Amino acid sequence: MEGYSVPYLPDLTPYPNLEDMSRNFGWPPPGTSALTVGWLAPEHNFPTAFPESSFLDSLFYLCAHHSILRTRGFHSCALPHTAKPAAPYPARRGGEEAWLGSAEISVVAADGKLLFAPNLVFHYVEEHHYQPPDIFIEAVLAGRTVVLPTNFLL
Ligand SMILES: [Zn+2]
Repeated sequence: MEGYSVPYLPDLTPYPNLEDMSRNFGWPPPGTSALTVGWLAPEHNFPTAFPESSFLDSLFYLCAHHSILRTRGFHSCALPHTAKPAAPYPARRGGEEAWLGSAEISVVAADGKLLFAPNLVFHYVEEHHYQPPDIFIEAVLAGRTVVLPTNFLL
């Protein structure tokens, strides 16, 4: 399947879909602060670091089991590869498989802000050694997953 690229959004800038979500679904409540993480694009540099395996474990679990806001299509990774990666992207860890590229993950930072990332963020960290902001790493390691209201059927 031919995927389309994730829109580029700088890290820790206001999450652009917040007002629409709030208006259409009644969540999150108006006034919630939500920021972007991991909306990468090849023409924009990003910080890199070799990822800790505990962080990869936690991030994979989140992407495999707590993906939200599913879309119809699939985002493909637009970063440089020797062979073009598949979309949806098959990620594997600990004997488990998850198909990434058509949903997002959201975690709650220590200060209460919501952080939204495409679930391809696991691939970015594992393969491209993208280093997300510390507040995201802390929230993922702490497992502070956003729990959507039960009437939020996405
Ligand atoms: Zn990639």
